[in-house]
Amino acid sequence: MDLNLTPAEEAFRQEIRSWFARNLPHEWKMAEIRKLSEDAAAAALRKWQLRLGEAGWLGLSWPKEYGGRGGTLMEQAIYLTEGHYADAPLPLDWVGLRLLGPTLMDVGTPELRARYLNRIVSGQMVWCQGFSEPNAGSDLAALQTRAVLDGDHYVVNGHKIWSTTAQYADWCMLLARTNPDVPKHKGITMFAVDMKSQGVTVRPIKQIGATSEFSEIFFDNVRIPRNNIIGGLDNGWGVAMRALTYERGLYTMINQAKYRTSWEEMVAYARQARRNGRPMIEDPRVRELLAQSYADIELMRLTNLRSLTRYQRGIPPAEESSLMKLHWSLAEQRLYDLGMTLGGPKALAMATSPRALYDGSWNTYYFQSRSVTIYGGTQDIQRNLIAERIYGLPR
Ligand SMILES: Cc1cc2nc3c(=O)[nH]c(=O)nc-3n(C[C@H](O)[C@H](O)[C@H](O)COP(=O)(O)OP(=O)(O)OC[C@H]3O[C@@H](n4cnc5c(N)ncnc54)[C@H](O)[C@@H]3O)c2cc1C
Repeated sequence: MDLNLTPAEEAFRQEIRSWFARNLPHEWKMAEIRKLSEDAAAAALRKWQLRLGEAGWLGLSWPKEYGGRGGTLMEQAIYLTEGHYADAPLPLDWVGLRLLGPTLMDVGTPELRARYLNRIVSGQMVWCQGFSEPNAGSDLAALQTRAVLDGDHYVVNGHKIWSTTAQYADWCMLLARTNPDVPKHKGITMFAVDMKSQGVTVRPIKQIGATSEFSEIFFDNVRIPRNNIIGGLDNGWGVAMRALTYERGLYTMINQAKYRTSWEEMVAYARQARRNGRPMIEDPRVRELLAQSYADIELMRLTNLRSLTRYQRGIPPAEESSLMKLHWSLAEQRLYDLGMTLGGPKALAMATSPRALYDGSWNTYYFQSRSVTIYGGTQDIQRNLIAERIYGLPR
């Protein structure tokens, strides 16, 4: 494992740091975005995404032939970390950039690649992921949304749920059943669906943190051209699993920097805030929880570096992604539970309140942390994967 940046990586870090300093206006920093209504925040993020696209940062680790910069994963990690320290928001289009784009590079037809990749990498599109259904989450292969061939089109009927940013998405990567007469993993196909198609209805779901990060999507006789199939007819299961591996790997890199910042804020807060007449930092229980979170974050940083080093040596870290997902999701919950314990009633003030602690970030992240052990595969599913694939235990 190599713990140090090379001189070239250090120079890259300086370059990206000064780019953020010059190009990220105050009103687009996360602290300000959190104060906006959801619609206003989405509009600002779209503009920010375009700026990142024009500068070439969205495609930092994409190959040059697809409009990327052909950078290394280490550069990608540096970019994400510096973005966090600059308080830069992530682009609105998480799905296109992180899931669909790499998947299309692997399995898309030349026509689909030409149609979408350039627009995704320049920040012109927002995609959503239409996988889960009310009765198909962990058991995704049980999905019931049907796509039936009619001439040159498939006609789609069904109901998707928990689809992040669907209310702002231009396109959806959809999983639908194209063959009901074969074992359930084998009759699924992935499609690219224009969200403006007739028969698509999006209904946002209100969450515990008062936002609507995700939506239900209803498909009522929606016609999809048959050349919008991604990765081949009835191949959707394998294509979707590939996309989910990309998803799990990248969260890890971004989150570690976020946790580090919150942890440092919590230490500073515990030093100056008093409970029962003495600084909270002197409470042995608080010290123990801070130490536990510090160890969690360090473990994550070092495992990230190990994965990156392995990756650069040509060893894909696939089997580690479940281990990391499980670790960081539990670490995140421990950390923001601690934030709530330290802040008490003050930590409940939301970002829009002038009394919010640390621009409302602990509060926002606490509510978000409830969902981390669910999305991208629940903690139980990750445990199953670790048991079976890493330890070779029976199903
Ligand atoms: C913030 C957020 C964003 C999301 N974004 C998207 C999105 O953009 N697109 C999309 O398609 N989906 C999205 N999802 C949905 C997500 O993929 C599902 O919630 C997840 O797969 C779990 O499915 P479920 O909610 O139906 O729960 P279920 O699968 O019904 O699980 C219920 C409980 O049973 C447990 N369980 C289920 N099966 C097993 C098993 N075999 N072994 C042990 N325990 C098991 C689970 O761990 C869980 O505790 C999102 C979810 C969240 C929370």
